[in-house]
Amino acid sequence: CGIVGYIGNREAYPIIIKGLKRLEYRGYDSAGAMIFDEGELKLSKTKGKVSDLEERAEKEISLSGNIGMGHTRWATHGVPNDVNSHPHLSNSGNLAIIHNGIIENYEPLKKELIKRGYTFKSDTDTEVLVNLIEEVKKNEDVKLGKAVQIALNQVVGAYAICVFDKQRPDEIVVARLGSPLAIGIGKDEFFIASDASPFIEYTSNAIYLEDEEMAIVRKDKPLKVRKIKDDTLVDPYVQELQM
Ligand code: GLU
Repeated sequence: CGIVGYIGNREAYPIIIKGLKRLEYRGYDSAGAMIFDEGELKLSKTKGKVSDLEERAEKEISLSGNIGMGHTRWATHGVPNDVNSHPHLSNSGNLAIIHNGIIENYEPLKKELIKRGYTFKSDTDTEVLVNLIEEVKKNEDVKLGKAVQIALNQVVGAYAICVFDKQRPDEIVVARLGSPLAIGIGKDEFFIASDASPFIEYTSNAIYLEDEEMAIVRKDKPLKVRKIKDDTLVDPYVQELQM
């Protein structure tokens, strides 16, 4: 299970594919990627290897775009198949999520969302989380970062997540509890990954999110890290990576 994300001025797709390959050692059963290009969110996902994803992605998604994310899945809820692979979209199609970990209380959350009219394509706990974020965003009329924060405060479990909102295409919201998440800091660009190996060739500055922290990652803005629980700002420790 692994996560890779990119936001900046380079082509995101090759960074994501190469990054996912570097994370293969972590083990996985499926792989997927999302690229945002010219107002469109393009997804490709498959059971199998990152090389299977590449084959598919070349036909299914635009391979250019400067923002994107990729995932290798180690199934916990729902069998390994194409539909259960990440990224998962929210019902509106506006939000995309990748997730490593487990949402333990996904069942009651899913029931409540179904009552409110949501439908589900996959059997994953992850698809519940992305729709919970969508519901919070709509109900509370808040932006993506706030919606993610409110939703995560209703969640029991473990996660490293990246969330993208088509309506705010200049940012990726990331959060962690229990599963690792590193952010590589470049010039007008950021890399997100389960460990530093996908981005070590691009930057030697990184922060590792601590448990219960989240960040809104924007291409040309300094990184702001907050506590998920009480919204306090954290001064992140920027590590110098050894090449
Ligand atoms: N619980 C999620 C799923 O089964 C994420 C698994 C993972 O960590 O890759 O889809």
